[in-house]
Amino acid sequence: MIITKKKEFKDIVDVVGKGPVFIAGCSECATICHTGGEEEILEMKNALIDKKIEVTGSILLEPACHLLNDKRLFRQHKKELERANKILVLACGNGVQTVSEISKDWDVISGTDTLFLGEIKRANDFEKRCQMCGECFVDTFEGLCPVSRCPKSMLNGPCGGSKNGKCEVDSELDCIWILIYNSLKEKDELHRLNELRDCKDWSKSLKMRRTL
Ligand code: SF4
Ligand code: SF4
Repeated sequence: MIITKKKEFKDIVDVVGKGPVFIAGCSECATICHTGGEEEILEMKNALIDKKIEVTGSILLEPACHLLNDKRLFRQHKKELERANKILVLACGNGVQTVSEISKDWDVISGTDTLFLGEIKRANDFEKRCQMCGECFVDTFEGLCPVSRCPKSMLNGPCGGSKNGKCEVDSELDCIWILIYNSLKEKDELHRLNELRDCKDWSKSLKMRRTL
């Protein structure tokens, strides 16, 4: 899932200015992250109205990154959109760009910051799991990805800075290399760590399009 966080309200107000503004949220990731679901749209709408900024309408896109769905749903809100000069999008950066693509006559504003592709650990608790590197080899690391879960993306073992099993860069994180080591040890497969990996070929993450 794409993990987002809300931007500061005062920063949003600075960009929205006097409006009028139309608000678009997202039924998928941003709803689960509580950054752009129905509740957050309503909250944003009331907060902007309190600031005397006109809100012409709102919509929950299904999801915001779906170009054809966005077009269809925007057609249903044509009048509300026509009265606005800005669209505030409460979705990930992908959703914001999809809305931008069909809204050339409006200023499209992002209401969230997009952080990472992550796991839902429990309600409202998300952790980074993937950097979309274009060449997944997580199976060779016991299903634990050192590219995304080690802040230094160490591929051939730990950096040596870990303390009490925690990462030296972020003490709230388990050092992923200790988890990989422990998992291999338990299976008596530590010899797998003898194989050295070449530097990652990041050109594989540059694919801009995929079609079926
Ligand atoms: S190896 Fe690459 S694709 Fe696989 S989980 Fe890690 S970052 Fe994501
Ligand atoms: S302590 Fe572990 S997780 Fe943290 S940077 Fe070093 S190797 Fe990576």
